[in-house]
Amino acid sequence: MLCMPSAKCPICGLNVELPDDVLPGEIIEHECGVVLEVVKDRNDGVVLKPLEGISEDWGE
Ligand SMILES: [Zn+2]
Repeated sequence: MLCMPSAKCPICGLNVELPDDVLPGEIIEHECGVVLEVVKDRNDGVVLKPLEGISEDWGE
């Protein structure tokens, strides 16, 4: 059985289709309008995090 990488959108809760060769750190724009970052989880899967939370790193 082919295991397509997929994850749930943390904003709208819908499934997000990921490319076969998705890599941690990749940026994915979901159809609900949110920008998500691909993050690897402990189980060798991937989870999605909204990118809007990182502005605190910019330190401006
Ligand atoms: Zn979404």
